Amino acid sequence: MDLTGRASELAEVMKLAYERGYTTGAGGNASARVDEGILITPSGEFKGRLRAEDIILIDRQGRVLEGKGRPSSEWKLHLKVYEIRPDVGAILHCHHAVVTGLAMSMVSSKIDGEVLAPLRESDWTEEAKIMLRDVKILPWRPYGTEELAEIVSNALKDVNAVIVLRHGAFVVSKDPWLALSAMDSLVEVFTINLVRRLVG
Ligand code: 13P
Ligand code: ZN
Repeated sequence: MDLTGRASELAEVMKLAYERGYTTGAGGNASARVDEGILITPSGEFKGRLRAEDIILIDRQGRVLEGKGRPSSEWKLHLKVYEIRPDVGAILHCHHAVVTGLAMSMVSSKIDGEVLAPLRESDWTEEAKIMLRDVKILPWRPYGTEELAEIVSNALKDVNAVIVLRHGAFVVSKDPWLALSAMDSLVEVFTINLVRRLVG
């Protein structure tokens, strides 16, 4: 099957996430479920200028089927989430300073398991609630590891957004565009929370 259209959509979503300031040039990655496995962004490339030909196709075991570069270092995490959540069609991971920083100020850095983000009901817009269900904050684990894949995929069983301390956020949705909308909602809710802390 020709996956160029799907690959170009994924590259576009990653680029938009960068342009909106949701992620750094080096941080973040994205994937989409396809029949053959998953399409995923390449590892270590600048995330603001990806094209369809940079996207890599891997199978469910992580073997590269198509593409020139290396798949994102978080490929195990992406595969695990798709395994656990059959309803999920896309995953977007971003390094957003406000979201990560606020999450760190909300919980102790010593948490050793998942904690629901202590947001007020009034911090939530209605569509954010629908998109995300809730947000969990998770302890730091080194990037690209089985441990990180394990805690993130477990936490995403019943919510659509998690934030890893000192790292960044992962959101899931039906397709890459809706995953970008979910990231919009996460940034929205955390920015509302921040503004209310600053000006009451
Ligand atoms: P990759 O470039 O390997 O996807 O790594 C970026 C990242 O954010 C790892 O968590
Ligand atoms: Zn990351």
